[in-house]
Amino acid sequence: MSGWTDLAARRSGIPVLEPGHVWLAGAGPGDPGLLTLDALAGLVQADVIVHDALVDPRVLALAGPGARLEFAGKRGGKPSATQEDISRRLVALAQAGDRVLRLKGGDPFVFARGGEEAAALAAAGVPFRIVPGVTAGLAALAAALIPATLRGINRAVIFAAGYGADADGAPDWGALARTGEPIVLYMAMRNLAEIADALIAGGLAPHTPAAVIAAATTAAERILVSTLGRVAADARANGIEAPAIVVIGDIVTAREDLGAAAAAPEASR
Ligand code: SAH
Repeated sequence: MSGWTDLAARRSGIPVLEPGHVWLAGAGPGDPGLLTLDALAGLVQADVIVHDALVDPRVLALAGPGARLEFAGKRGGKPSATQEDISRRLVALAQAGDRVLRLKGGDPFVFARGGEEAAALAAAGVPFRIVPGVTAGLAALAAALIPATLRGINRAVIFAAGYGADADGAPDWGALARTGEPIVLYMAMRNLAEIADALIAGGLAPHTPAAVIAAATTAAERILVSTLGRVAADARANGIEAPAIVVIGDIVTAREDLGAAAAAPEASR
């Protein structure tokens, strides 16, 4: 821990996780190097860490020696713990006087229902703090050397949840396609063929570049480059599975220019 202590000593204003408080924090995409210092402060101070399935074991390994780990995820859509159960658990732990770290993969406010948990804490009068994290969409683009914005290519970027075209609350894929802006898809592997069809029906060319980045910043990271028309079949043929980010748009081609010059960070992971 001496590294942490040195760092703590040099950093002024480290926030204190008080008994009875909850920090709703992002754990980033996997690599512990992408944690914020505040998330690390939470890991070190927490009495109990309530985490999702996507939080990397290397991040959980940074918990303080006395911390209890509680899993509160939903795996593969199975109704293990409902959102209401999780919110109630956070309130109960805080009211029992624990220092609570609620740790979610990526950023707690991006496709993570952090807003609902924060609302439940607020309604119960539990003091809480939001600690943002590196969201998987941005981490996956970085891992694949795909700039999210590129001068001359795009001035906007869309983050969308990969619900099938007919699902309740699905994005209007045709409307997104018509913006012509690059689209970064979360949770899209199951419905990728259907989403690609809807985007093509909305006017995107089948040859629009597309990439899939699975398990970004972990030892299992895989990157596939394809086109919108072929990406679902290519991902299936190559056994690329969730968790993965899909990115669609001309920004994907920048990867070819950047790849040759970049040092491979995998060696250090
Ligand atoms: N709050 C998270 C997103 C949760 S939704 C965040 O901000 O990143 C779950 C989806 O996130 C997965 O289906 C996948 O699309 C994406 N995801 C999470 N971790 C990932 C990783 N290491 N590599 C690629 N995609 C990831």
